[in-house]
Amino acid sequence: MNNKHPASGFSTRAIHHGYDPKDHHGALVPPIYLSATFAFPTAEYGAACFAGEASGHFYTRISNPTLALLESRMASLENGEAAVAFSSGMGAIAATFWTLLRPGDEIIVSQTLYGCTFALLHHGIGEFGIQVRHVDLTDLAALQAALSPATRMIYCETPANPNLRLIDIAAVAELAHRQPNITLVVDNTYCTPYLQRPLELGADVVVHSATKYLSGHGDITAGIAVSSHALAQRIRLQGLKDLTGAVMSPQDASLLMRGLKTLALRMDRHCSSAQAVAEALQAHPAVQWVTYPGLRSFPQYALAKRQMKLPGGMIAFELKGGIEMGRRFMNALRLFTRAVSLGDAESLAQHPASMTHSTYTPEERAQHGISEGLVRLSVGLEDVADLLADVHQALAKCSRPSVRPAATAAHVLR
Ligand SMILES: *Cc1c(COP(=O)(O)O)cnc(C)c1O
Repeated sequence: MNNKHPASGFSTRAIHHGYDPKDHHGALVPPIYLSATFAFPTAEYGAACFAGEASGHFYTRISNPTLALLESRMASLENGEAAVAFSSGMGAIAATFWTLLRPGDEIIVSQTLYGCTFALLHHGIGEFGIQVRHVDLTDLAALQAALSPATRMIYCETPANPNLRLIDIAAVAELAHRQPNITLVVDNTYCTPYLQRPLELGADVVVHSATKYLSGHGDITAGIAVSSHALAQRIRLQGLKDLTGAVMSPQDASLLMRGLKTLALRMDRHCSSAQAVAEALQAHPAVQWVTYPGLRSFPQYALAKRQMKLPGGMIAFELKGGIEMGRRFMNALRLFTRAVSLGDAESLAQHPASMTHSTYTPEERAQHGISEGLVRLSVGLEDVADLLADVHQALAKCSRPSVRPAATAAHVLR
């Protein structure tokens, strides 16, 4: 329906792009094509499909009508030409790496990365003859110095999971593209295209864990890569079809499209509630530091304002007393759930050093800016008053010294 109206707004495209009910017996919601394989009208047509001479679906690991609709919607929302759907974010990231890197190539990556991406680099592609270089991408002189004729990819998350450091995508893209054959890949999981569109700032590929905000309901694992037609075709035919086989299921594509319909509404709420929680943390005497892109104290506040529509739903903070106090805080939470993942309706709290980022050694965490006491919050969609009450009651247990045995005894005696 909406293909005829390319100027439509974000939410209109998230709901309508690429679909017209009149082509599907009037079904308001796109049907799920639960078919692994597709019939060829003739043997010749089948051969032409395999030769890439005929378009059309022939096997779901390569394409499927439900996946194709999701992919066209994601491409529209990220303002790219094409997208490829995967069974997880790591599927999308691994397929992109395996497609675009070969032994002898160098990849420059930012300092802080999601734990499994770090593991894929250091215990995966790094062991197959690809040189992995961590560079502080906020320092353009350092990036310039690290570039070499063998550099084939620059990869970053912005904001980074879990410490929320930002990378200036436009500045890095400008430097990267002075040299031919460098692909800039940005993990846009924390923002979603509603808050930030890296392709518009000069990136070549956007990857997502669609498990998080994009689906938004914590009921699927999914991944997406968005790029030009040419790059997407390579990622599909090599990274997806042959190298990983990490294809998304059509049912999950349907759930993901359901999530996309409310993406803008959800993100607005995640952001406003996270702002309130971050401010409450910052004002509390038990808190050592808070990192949230919407706080004026955020070291890259100006960049956040310029590059992101809103500051997002993720907070990193540390209590006075480090992780011991952090554990006390997490155990005291009643509404926030102690769980990894992010971007769900439910507010979540976790400890990266012992959970999502335990793929780093303690020395690596220190080197890559992940403090041992950092607690990560994913602020959900519950009423903000309830979230604030939960945070306050948990913080109250952290500001008091632990109950002294003498006091306990006196209480028992009374
Ligand atoms: C969760 C996450 C991933 C991995 O995605 P999965 O869907 O869990 O495979 C990659 N990058 C970031 C920033 C993430 O938060």
